[in-house]
Amino acid sequence: MATDRPPPGRRALVLGAGIVGVSVALHLQQRGWSVILADRKAPGRETSYGNAGLIESSAVLPHPFPRGLSTLLTLATNRSAALRYDPRVLPQIASWLLAYWRASRDGALAHIGPAFRTLIGAALAEHEALMAQVGATGLLRREGWLELCRSPQQLDDADREAALARSHGITAERIEQDALYALQPVLRPGLSGAIAWRDTGWIVDPGGLVEAYAALFTNRGGRILRADALALTGEAGGWQIRSEREEVVVADHAVVALGPWTGDLATRLGYRFPLAVKRGYHRHFAHNEGCRLTQPVYVRDEACLMVPMTRGVRLLSGVELAARDAPPSPVQLQQIETSARSMLPLGDPIEPAPWLGARPCLPDMLPVIGPAPRHPGLWFAFGHSHYGLTLGPVTGRMLAEMMSGETPFISPQAYRAERFAA
Ligand SMILES: Cc1cc2nc3c(=O)[nH]c(=O)nc-3n(C[C@H](O)[C@H](O)[C@H](O)COP(=O)(O)OP(=O)(O)OC[C@H]3O[C@@H](n4cnc5c(N)ncnc54)[C@H](O)[C@@H]3O)c2cc1C
Repeated sequence: MATDRPPPGRRALVLGAGIVGVSVALHLQQRGWSVILADRKAPGRETSYGNAGLIESSAVLPHPFPRGLSTLLTLATNRSAALRYDPRVLPQIASWLLAYWRASRDGALAHIGPAFRTLIGAALAEHEALMAQVGATGLLRREGWLELCRSPQQLDDADREAALARSHGITAERIEQDALYALQPVLRPGLSGAIAWRDTGWIVDPGGLVEAYAALFTNRGGRILRADALALTGEAGGWQIRSEREEVVVADHAVVALGPWTGDLATRLGYRFPLAVKRGYHRHFAHNEGCRLTQPVYVRDEACLMVPMTRGVRLLSGVELAARDAPPSPVQLQQIETSARSMLPLGDPIEPAPWLGARPCLPDMLPVIGPAPRHPGLWFAFGHSHYGLTLGPVTGRMLAEMMSGETPFISPQAYRAERFAA
């Protein structure tokens, strides 16, 4: 493995070099493990590349299924920019949807919410600790994001919701019209105000951040291997994989951190997790007229999120329920482009086609972080849904502590694989 003399029993093969796998690899390495990070692509090129970049410290709940009747009726029309679905996928995900619906009841959220907040509450500090080591703090911005409201009524509604967040200690400040335009003069007229969610950080190049973490890993002696994770096999007391170059590597422990592809390998190993995907699109647009947006903005009720990034303004769509590998259908992105252009002087799109990614989602909205129930030396870290960029380093630290026999800094109970009859 990566060192000539690996510590006994401390050779790990981490499968998947997204934010989760890279974070696990770094934290294991810090604890003296010899680690190989295997992926079929370069680090941070998939879901961890294309997200909104938010280190979402302001979230109280992990995106429960909407339960209000008027919202449900709107979603059922299948024309909402917030959620569209491919009717052909519904039979395949019916049991997942039902479990998600049940987990979104108030009674269930009373347990899920605190488990989610515990992870979220540690997220920014864990990122900052890694960024400081890699010298990547310049990729992090701390201005928070703005929830834009077109009418006084919307502003009042948003403020009422923000009050709940404030009761959890989150900074959510009501901003009236004049203050909003003073803060972001680039915004076009017609807004009544905004809620400023100040605790959230954002990354101006999420893929670049994962690459920087991966570079730290290799600089410290870690090894990145191009390999198909589906080639993983168990061997006496350990795990083995064959690289694209036909090199065979062995390890004492294997970590499955394959994001939305986790089920492909888990199923082969005999685990059937209820993992579905919520797909999403982005596209970058040039700033027109030399104007600059200096923080992410979300247009309330229009599912339109715009994040200023290194490449331009990244416009992100809502949720699409469709098969993971179905062809792209970026209708929602087209819908919100109209909203976006009514807010900002956007220029031409930068890429020829939108990016499509898939949020890996378990029905109780919490990730799996911990040992595999039936295979000694096999570990899971997946299912981070809307919050994987945020939660990568927290997950990495927790899992590395568990694997090293330490008491994890966050109790792993709520995230264990056994909660699913997998
Ligand atoms: C539109 C959108 C917006 C989002 N916005 C945010 C946000 O603002 N903040 C936030 O915190 N989260 C956000 N997310 C969610 C976040 O991006 C994901 O939860 C996170 O990236 C998942 O990370 P991961 O490491 O688990 O998966 P990935 O980044 O997908 O990594 C999995 C890796 O496994 C590799 N792999 C897969 N199969 C194989 C195989 N057979 N062999 C070898 N390698 C394989 C892939 O190449 C990939 O590198 C968003 C997601 C989307 C889609």
